[in-house]
Amino acid sequence: MPRYFIWTIGCQMNKAESQQIAGYLDSAGYQATTSFSHADLVVLNTCVVRQSAEDKILGTLGLLKGLKSKRPNLHILVTGCFVNSHTQELQRQFPHVDLLFKPGDYPELIAWGQKQDIPIEQNLLRYPCNDSRLARSPCALIPIIQGCDNFCSYCIVPYRRGREVSRPAEEIVCEVAELVSRGVREVTLLGQNVDSYGHDLPGHPDLADLLNELSGIDELVRIRFLTNHPKDMSLKVIETMASIKKVCEHLELPVQSGDDDILKAMRRGYTVERYRDLVHTIRRKIPHISLSTDLIVGFPGETEEQFEHSLSLVQEMKFDVVHVAAYSPRPGTIAYREYQDNIPAEVKKERLNKIEELQTAIASEINSQLRGQETEVLVEGKKGGKWYGRTRSNKLVFFEDAGEWLGQLAIVHIDRTSPWSLIGQVKN
Ligand code: SF4
Repeated sequence: MPRYFIWTIGCQMNKAESQQIAGYLDSAGYQATTSFSHADLVVLNTCVVRQSAEDKILGTLGLLKGLKSKRPNLHILVTGCFVNSHTQELQRQFPHVDLLFKPGDYPELIAWGQKQDIPIEQNLLRYPCNDSRLARSPCALIPIIQGCDNFCSYCIVPYRRGREVSRPAEEIVCEVAELVSRGVREVTLLGQNVDSYGHDLPGHPDLADLLNELSGIDELVRIRFLTNHPKDMSLKVIETMASIKKVCEHLELPVQSGDDDILKAMRRGYTVERYRDLVHTIRRKIPHISLSTDLIVGFPGETEEQFEHSLSLVQEMKFDVVHVAAYSPRPGTIAYREYQDNIPAEVKKERLNKIEELQTAIASEINSQLRGQETEVLVEGKKGGKWYGRTRSNKLVFFEDAGEWLGQLAIVHIDRTSPWSLIGQVKN
């Protein structure tokens, strides 16, 4: 049986697309393997958000060139954000690559397979996962919108993934119903900006409409979605979240900076005050909401005072999770063209450490309040002899038990907490 290996870097969207590609290759009689050296077909699913990621891809393509010179029958396929609109230019640069296809362009993959006599099944388009993979996880990632129309000044994504394209709601509902019939209990709807969902579809359905439709699927117990954009998140979506029991009390709401001038230079389209109001509304409507955010430190020109604004916003908002990154210039973006990367690396590092230190203390305090409580955990797997899964608020929980818990909802009594995870004992 021929074997494939999918190398994936980047965001959840890429992980979801790799699952889908794996589904196609399974349908064509391929078997998954865990390294380049054992594979007959390799897929690189790429991310170019940072220059360092692009450098990693170039290194991997160099490695595969060497492998292909020894094994000319090795097929090399490349997808993800590395594949831009200049595919012919990329093909000239990397002649050892058999196919470059844009993220989500599965018809291109299927057409290539047909030319090689690789019988990839067309009808898997809406059913990305096969039974064997689903047996390993009750959670599925579902892309609902591709691309981004926002053009934040530091971000390369809109240039690589293109403008927003939503998947029809019927197609998504059909896919989720099929996955649920195969054992999935939780879905995470994905998009660079899920709050833009549907504006390009006939009748303009929105995320709230989609949540309502999905909530009607029996046996689906949890729905999540990410990532939200603070300038686009509507009251309708917040109220829908509050009213549908299946929608988990968890949101990813990137703020990026706590300073209005920096937000303006980032072209984020909101002020700190507007972000603060949005969070207050969300917390009023959904009292136990768990909030995660993204923050960039060391954006060009960020003064000590502006950084302090970010630090005090983190202190004030008491997020459950903060993903903090030091700014790195990305060729091809507005910020790269217009601003000098003038914050020294050691200052960026120092600012990043300060945010992480503060957030560790906040997360430690928030999680410690769960000690002694019982919480519902959807069990996703077993690691080091312990079952693990997530609460509705997306906290990672571990417990030991001799029973079979994969895919089950366990009620866990929390005994110990840390800023990153919880440990407890199963009660049911
Ligand atoms: S919203 Fe901004 S940061 Fe997010 S993908 Fe779009 S351009 Fe990039």
